[in-house]
Amino acid sequence: MKIQCLGVHDSLAPGKGSMCLLIDGTLALDAGAITDTLPFEQQVTIRDVIVSHVHIDHVKTLPFLAESFAISFTGNIVQTLRVHAKPAIIRALKAHLFNNVLWPDFTTIPSVADPVLTLIDQGQTFVVQGYTITFIPLTHTVPTYAIHVQHRDSEFLYISDTGPTERIWQYINQLERPLDAIFIDVAFPNSLENLAWASGHLTPKLLRAELGKVTNIPKHMYAIHLKSVYIEKISKELVSALDGYDYSIPKPMDILTL
Ligand SMILES: [Zn+2]
Ligand SMILES: [Zn+2]
Repeated sequence: MKIQCLGVHDSLAPGKGSMCLLIDGTLALDAGAITDTLPFEQQVTIRDVIVSHVHIDHVKTLPFLAESFAISFTGNIVQTLRVHAKPAIIRALKAHLFNNVLWPDFTTIPSVADPVLTLIDQGQTFVVQGYTITFIPLTHTVPTYAIHVQHRDSEFLYISDTGPTERIWQYINQLERPLDAIFIDVAFPNSLENLAWASGHLTPKLLRAELGKVTNIPKHMYAIHLKSVYIEKISKELVSALDGYDYSIPKPMDILTL
């Protein structure tokens, strides 16, 4: 798998897109940074978006991506964008985003029978474009799910956003072999641990404690969701917090191969 890091940060700053990983050019995990990083022609080659939760930093370019699909259809050929998520998340997208108030309901455009946007309720495990996807609940301020992606011989877990939690580590421990990689939330520096607890995120110190629950250690860890004003501070703190672990901090638009 080739994973392009369209957005790996939090807080808005030029060149620091919100969370979005693009797999092999056609499948996106979250949509924090699609239309502000990719040219139009590439945007409309993305067929599926899997959403971890509805916080705006994870869905903010979804309305514009739907619009790109709406204006890209020619003649009677409608390109369809499919959005996959757990039912509570799909309900929230319908009620609060594509509600004909904040943005048009693209699930009825150009027609109900043949819309440019389809919002799909998914269960725990499903297959899309040949990738096997599994949702695992995290501990955040709204319903949020880690996304396990398996394709041929490689697999990884996208864990964003979460505070201290249990289920995801139990899930990793019962897997037959170590994951090729995890992407893990480290939003705040250690000095803002109170904010991390309040908002359901991790600091380097909290992440270190969480990793004490893991026996089936992933081969590599990518630290993500760093608040952009604290990138340097968090990076320094991770050196000691993740001593002994294989990790890196991806930069916007990096392409990773698994
Ligand atoms: Zn969130
Ligand atoms: Zn977030």
